[in-house]
Amino acid sequence: MHILVTNDDGVFAPGLLALAQALQPLGQVSILAPDRNWSASGHVKTLERPLRVKEVLLPGGLRAFASDGAPSDCVALGIMGVLDQPVDLVVSGINPNANVGHDVTYSGTVTAAMEGAINGLPALAFSLDSRRENSQPHFADAAAVAAEIVRMVQQNPLPKDILLNVNIPDLPREEMGGPLITRQGLRIYRDALVRRADPRGVPYYWIGGEAPTGLAEEGTDIGALASGLVSITPIQLDLTAQQSLTTLQKWDWFQLGPQA
Ligand code: MN
Repeated sequence: MHILVTNDDGVFAPGLLALAQALQPLGQVSILAPDRNWSASGHVKTLERPLRVKEVLLPGGLRAFASDGAPSDCVALGIMGVLDQPVDLVVSGINPNANVGHDVTYSGTVTAAMEGAINGLPALAFSLDSRRENSQPHFADAAAVAAEIVRMVQQNPLPKDILLNVNIPDLPREEMGGPLITRQGLRIYRDALVRRADPRGVPYYWIGGEAPTGLAEEGTDIGALASGLVSITPIQLDLTAQQSLTTLQKWDWFQLGPQA
């Protein structure tokens, strides 16, 4: 089993190292990750510039490949031939912050796994819900859980086009509960626009504001994390709003056209 490990925080991020080390017993692990931080980059396909890949050495001596592409580019490169062996499984993370609710469309961590699913491979995204700035995030504990979940996916094939978005509470392994199979909860974003002027008086903008919160509803990813439970959300790439098909099909679309 050839496992491709990537992330969106950059190849030298501690979450990736912890994950790659924990997955060693489960197969041949290759690391191909961005050479810089691509957090909140969404699903990217770089088409208008060349992509470079270079070999780097991670702390502890693990060999890895770093690319100047996005997380999803890294997965595509790995699958399409940068790695010698065919890839069987894509694992992304461990992101240092949760990816819940609508985060999944922003998340480089999750969209890297989506790229795996698009290529017909089982794929998982792992994120650690570490919000306390000063503490050491429990990456090793999260990586141990991640390895258990990957082993489960090795034994039970995922349905096609489904990836798993896993969020792990920032706790010692023995204090975590779950895992709970969840749905996406409702994120509450608190973005605020900061407008400033450059030295020539031309305005520029930052998207700032406070970190998002969310509704800790039972059965959701946000609810699980709030209860100290590992959350596993199956994500599908078919975003069709099935419930809206019938309603929209009933509209009198043929009234549309050039107005007299
Ligand atoms: Mn990130």
